[in-house]
Amino acid sequence: MRVELLGAYIDALNMDETVERVAGFVQSGRLHRVITLNPEYLYQAQSRQKLLALTNSADLVTPDGTGIVWGCKMAGQPVDERVTGIDLMLYLCARGNYLGWRVFLLGAAPGVAQQAAEKLKQQYPGLVIAGTHHGYFTGNESERIVEEIRKSNSQLLFVALGAPKQEQWIAQHQSRTGVPVAVGVGGSFDVISGRAQRAPEWVQRLKVEWLYRLAKDPARWKRQLVLPKFAWLVLKRYVLKI
Ligand code: UDP
Repeated sequence: MRVELLGAYIDALNMDETVERVAGFVQSGRLHRVITLNPEYLYQAQSRQKLLALTNSADLVTPDGTGIVWGCKMAGQPVDERVTGIDLMLYLCARGNYLGWRVFLLGAAPGVAQQAAEKLKQQYPGLVIAGTHHGYFTGNESERIVEEIRKSNSQLLFVALGAPKQEQWIAQHQSRTGVPVAVGVGGSFDVISGRAQRAPEWVQRLKVEWLYRLAKDPARWKRQLVLPKFAWLVLKRYVLKI
């Protein structure tokens, strides 16, 4: 079932169901795009129709972030749980470990995707990391990267360029990579490689991961200004109905 929040259609699936769905996409061999939707993206999409269209044409849209889960509740269409990019990526790697999936990691600063790949190989020896590439390339270099990905014969492409850049890159290039499933995963490689730390579980349980990230990286404040604006939009639309 899909629920609607501020014009975006979000799949009301829990993590297990999401992993099942993506595994089906991989098996089908046909092209599928997965978006892990966060409030920052959805807020931007209010004034950029193309971003909203990208979301609504994706094959699977997960509620990434407490803000989205809360928004769905306010809209009277609750979803079970948060399905974040990093959690989804790790669950998919665990599934790929059993099935011998080939995956490609594209994104993050030079060296990070490779470091993340090393960590994944240790944790999931059955997973095949068929290639990596950093995320700081020019538009002209995209074709060479597409070719590299195509040659890797991967089944799953994780793209960590930040939203909405990763969603745009996937929409524009995925078909030529020939990889059946592409997922935008934001800052996941930084965390998996060990370069960035995720909030401790208790902080996540309190649903204040955003506060932790702000404390760790105060430069994020500008970006996080969007969160109260997003909350206000949700309240106006669904609670105050103005
Ligand atoms: N990034 C990249 N290329 C760019 C801009 C960003 O590879 O041109 C990477 C950046 O190094 C980081 C990720 O994209 O690893 C975005 O992380 P962020 O925490 O901002 O993403 P979020 O998960 O919050 O969407």
